[in-house]
Amino acid sequence: MADGSAWRSERQEGTSDRTAPSRQVIGSSIAVRDVVKTYGSFRAADNISLDVQPGEFITLLGPSGSGKTTLLNLVAGFQKINGGEILVDGRPIHNVPTHRRGFGMVFQSYALFPNMTVTQNVAFPMRMAGLDRQTTERRVAETLEMMRLSEHAAKLPTQMSGGQQQRVAIARAIVMRPKVVLMDEPLSALDRRLRESIQIELRDLHQRLGSTILFVTHDQGEALTMSDRIAVLDGGRIVQVGNPVDIYRHPANRFVASFVGESNLIDAEIMQKRGSTMTLRTRGGYVFAAESASGIDVGRATVLVRPERIVVGDAPLANTMPVTVTSALFLGEILRIEARTASGETLLIRSADGADRRLPSVGETLHVGWRAEDCWVLA
Ligand code: ATP
Repeated sequence: MADGSAWRSERQEGTSDRTAPSRQVIGSSIAVRDVVKTYGSFRAADNISLDVQPGEFITLLGPSGSGKTTLLNLVAGFQKINGGEILVDGRPIHNVPTHRRGFGMVFQSYALFPNMTVTQNVAFPMRMAGLDRQTTERRVAETLEMMRLSEHAAKLPTQMSGGQQQRVAIARAIVMRPKVVLMDEPLSALDRRLRESIQIELRDLHQRLGSTILFVTHDQGEALTMSDRIAVLDGGRIVQVGNPVDIYRHPANRFVASFVGESNLIDAEIMQKRGSTMTLRTRGGYVFAAESASGIDVGRATVLVRPERIVVGDAPLANTMPVTVTSALFLGEILRIEARTASGETLLIRSADGADRRLPSVGETLHVGWRAEDCWVLA
């Protein structure tokens, strides 16, 4: 639990968030430098470096076993690093025990005290820090209000739903107004609708709180929704750090392209390169233009085309190719179509529903294409 120094410390003005430049920031910077964590000969964290800005909401995203929790635990102090260093506001924290780091923490299991009311649970860190009763009552009331829990103040955890219990756990983690909040898959036990509504609440809370949030998830949608920046992990390494738009539109490699969002990865040959625009040809002879990162040269390449960027028509046009529909599903807001090209590649297409949209039949021929700015040549 956090000690009193966390919230007693001076608040400072800051402007690290790109969406709300004037908001108040109380968060710390976190610098992870060449951090290594080994279990025997296995490297769970393999030379990880990451700079987190004060007040930033940064998400560690990756598949199971990629090292997200390991990194979070190293920052929290639950585990000791084998190499490198972690600095908070420029100061090394290796010798600071977890309870003295002043971080708020939220885990997948709510870990509430079952015999305490909501108020008592949320007040617990303040009582432990020896804060006076008046301050505690005021701060707890404010925090319950922030988390829309005021009407549940007198309830025991067992009298509340999973989503409400997790909101209590979040309230308890932020009641001290910590400079850093660490969250490890806090929403993964909740159903989809609840998860989505708490995601939006958490984003809003982060804006108001101004703390630095380090959030772990394997859910790419969650990461895209909430984060200022996302660090994508694979095999104990960070493979890309960027804002959600960049990660989604300009993934660094095939792994990020397929882990974040649905993707069509098309093999093609680079025929020409002019600035950042390339002309490519697929195996089946479809010639198209695409944007690319720097440093990619002539030769074979993989091109990412997101399913929602594919334009579908009934008739052939310049720059379209014929495909045969192999599956077509109506999912409400979108039509999800799978189709095969003449050279045997499968394309996934997602088209927004509309009054003039018709669900094609299996076996039908469609004509598809994409614009240069809608595809991305992977490094
Ligand atoms: P998940 O989403 O499943 O929680 P993760 O990305 O958080 O995965 P970690 O829990 O950080 O992954 O684990 C990273 C790797 O380190 C895994 O291969 C795991 O088996 C290994 N590992 C973690 N803790 C230990 C331990 N105490 N002893 C040995 N190996 C461990």
